[in-house]
Amino acid sequence: MGERLTVLGWDERVAAEFAPYAARGLEPARVALEHQHIYRLYTEDGECLARVRGRIRHQAEAREAFPAVGDWVAIEPFETPSESTDREAAIAAVLPRRSRFSRKSAGDLTEEQVIAANIDVVFLVSGLDHDYNLRRIERYLVTAWDGGARPVILLNKADLADDIEIRLEEVRGVAAGAPVHALSTKSGLGLEVFDEYLRVGVTAAFLGSSGVGKSSLINALLGEARQRVFDVRAKDSRGRHTTTHRELLILPRGGLIIDTPGMREMQLWEGTLDAFQDIQEIGTACHFRDCRHEQEPRCAVRVAVDEGRLPAARLASYQKLHRELVHQAERQDQYSQIQQKRKMRTMMRAARTMYNTRDRGRQR
Ligand code: GDP
Ligand code: ZN
Repeated sequence: MGERLTVLGWDERVAAEFAPYAARGLEPARVALEHQHIYRLYTEDGECLARVRGRIRHQAEAREAFPAVGDWVAIEPFETPSESTDREAAIAAVLPRRSRFSRKSAGDLTEEQVIAANIDVVFLVSGLDHDYNLRRIERYLVTAWDGGARPVILLNKADLADDIEIRLEEVRGVAAGAPVHALSTKSGLGLEVFDEYLRVGVTAAFLGSSGVGKSSLINALLGEARQRVFDVRAKDSRGRHTTTHRELLILPRGGLIIDTPGMREMQLWEGTLDAFQDIQEIGTACHFRDCRHEQEPRCAVRVAVDEGRLPAARLASYQKLHRELVHQAERQDQYSQIQQKRKMRTMMRAARTMYNTRDRGRQR
């Protein structure tokens, strides 16, 4: 496959997953933007617009089956009328995701909506100013692991801090092995860390609260190219000039960044508590196997807090996260039950129709 696909993150694994589609004459593409079920795709020889073909739309009972930014898809290319500058294609399939970030959809129930797919590295950004918060870093770590991406912690605004080494040590204490770096978009300090993580074909994303400097970092990586390359002025169908943008950005230096409004407001989905290995280890000594480390007798974790071996705040954030995850699991259950009921109803209806036809057959 071509060099351009490599730039887009194509590798042996994607190639292997794509092989059956290639055999059917389909072409690979990666989703750069989604807007009301119209997709902008990067392809081997440029870009095109695409819609999801009727059949997957029908099969896609759950929104999770729809393509998301970062997804690899198989398309049936075809040309649109000549006055339009954009080719339009049909998306026939979505390839398996190696990682995915999701959120609850707008409705009341817990339905998964994938907001970005195939992210390799997630930069968890905090500011070394008032924003600095170890508990929040722990939560973002859980989110990153949950999505299946490799977390890297960035402490931005190092120009505002004079105790960088202490902060780095503190954060490493909760990082559960994830690398931690201090940097400053403003002074340029430490920006070379990106050489380590952003290589050709690697897809990254930034997570962190508003104001920590995510946009500044992304702009620094894009350089002057952002306006020029990514906000292409194109003629729409009525010949007006419109500004289009991409949410999967190709960096001039190599590598890709996913920057979507959804990623900016990431919520926890169903989660693992891997970021709290220390508590889980101590917890194996609790008297009750399902100890929540609250009021239970002979709780090893509370003993650890009393003896100063475990910060009380860390236990509190573990418990808060745990409660949220349990709550989400319950909502998920409720949702599955409703789905189950729906399925039963359809089956009953189908069975009734079948019996009715059979009865009519007998009467004849
Ligand atoms: P975002 O909301 O995470 O995208 O944050 P922005 O990139 O918009 O940055 C928020 C504010 O922090 C802006 O006023 C930036 O100029 C400022 N900022 C970003 N990086 C740095 C830095 O390294 N040092 C300092 N002092 N300010 C920064
Ligand atoms: Zn316990």
